[in-house]
Amino acid sequence: MYSSIEIEWIKHLILDYLDRYFIENIELNKDRIYFATVDEFINGGPGFYILLYPNNSFVYPTKFREINVLDTVFTIGEKISEFQNLEENQYGFVKNSNSGFAPSWDFLSLVFPLLKGEYEKLIKQDHLGRVNQNLDNRPSELLLTPFFNEFIALLVATSYDGKLKVLNPVLKCPNVFLSHDCDLLIGNDYFTQLIRCYKVFSNLFKLNFSGAFIKFKYIILNLIDGKKYYLNSISYILKLEKKYGYRSSFYFLNGKIARYGARSNLKVIELAISLIPDGWDIGLHYNYNTLHSEVNFLQQKSQLESILSNIVFSGRAHYLKYSNIDDLLFYSRMGIKVDESTGYSERQGFRYGIGSPFTPFNVFSSKGDLVTIPLTFMDSNIVLSDFDKLVKHVSKIGGSISILFHNDLVNNPEYEIFLGLYEKLLQVLKINNFNYKLPSDLIK
Ligand SMILES: [Zn+2]
Repeated sequence: MYSSIEIEWIKHLILDYLDRYFIENIELNKDRIYFATVDEFINGGPGFYILLYPNNSFVYPTKFREINVLDTVFTIGEKISEFQNLEENQYGFVKNSNSGFAPSWDFLSLVFPLLKGEYEKLIKQDHLGRVNQNLDNRPSELLLTPFFNEFIALLVATSYDGKLKVLNPVLKCPNVFLSHDCDLLIGNDYFTQLIRCYKVFSNLFKLNFSGAFIKFKYIILNLIDGKKYYLNSISYILKLEKKYGYRSSFYFLNGKIARYGARSNLKVIELAISLIPDGWDIGLHYNYNTLHSEVNFLQQKSQLESILSNIVFSGRAHYLKYSNIDDLLFYSRMGIKVDESTGYSERQGFRYGIGSPFTPFNVFSSKGDLVTIPLTFMDSNIVLSDFDKLVKHVSKIGGSISILFHNDLVNNPEYEIFLGLYEKLLQVLKINNFNYKLPSDLIK
């Protein structure tokens, strides 16, 4: 069964989430949210019950139902056997004889292993020591389902007893966290040019002359001007964000120079930082050699702090390199308050089943104060039609999404497929009334 600290944590996440995305005086009585067994619910009084079903072995559910309410589509689990004779309301909740409500499916068994990171521990790691995202066997539509957000939306709707046709009157604006990992600030460093040279020869070898020519062209272009399409893209990002009324966070990779580490020297990083106006956030892109190395991490952090003349409180792991969510306790101990590492680079969606910043379990149980903003979309994994659909869905149920766009891809003709994409994303967010939020907003 769940331990008392685990239940306390889930309750904290629910109440924190309600405060973030719902207006203050919703019908749902927050003091009447109970965690109870099936029997306790059946014999219980009025209120809202979250079922404690035995969860000894975790098996990811394979059977789901879709319900079409509140002007969007929700995914819920199968009705549990004990409730077969109880009638469900339109939101999939059942009622006891004293007007107490509970979801008809086992919500906790679905969401708890995702949020706590139990699910990802079942997945083998890749050569970088991360969860191998390709072995996460969730179909893409389930990875794109914010189960936690959907449950809360249905819970709030149930408290209105079917009187709400849509949730918008009781929702605050949905949020977007925009961010940029600044891995590459110049296009003519030794490693970037060496990779291009390799591609010139490998394309020639395959008789792909146009491919070889393109790579050769950018060797020359960046020899003439290293900042073009790299450092200069920071101004492009800022211009776009100002146009649409958004702000973002920039994460800088300083410290140890390659392999897998930084490729820009401190002078270039200083120059890039000087372009970023007040009101935008700047944080640390944790270098490849820093996970679980206090010395390396603090060295990198204090180097960036000396450029900023400010304390660094937010960051994201380079290559999203961490083994599982428990590793975030290390960052919390290193003084990071807001982390953005928790997502997949090649797969879009909600790795932890939630579209909102949240405190990982072991940080909560050790009384740390780090929140992580799960990464939903990244430049290289966005499918625009899915993005469109999900942004609309979140605007109807509440929550946050987050987007990472690298500065070296956002406006670089060498990577044509990304040209104009960031602006399209901002347009979709604007149309759907998303407000921007920054890591600094989470620690005020
Ligand atoms: Zn990176």
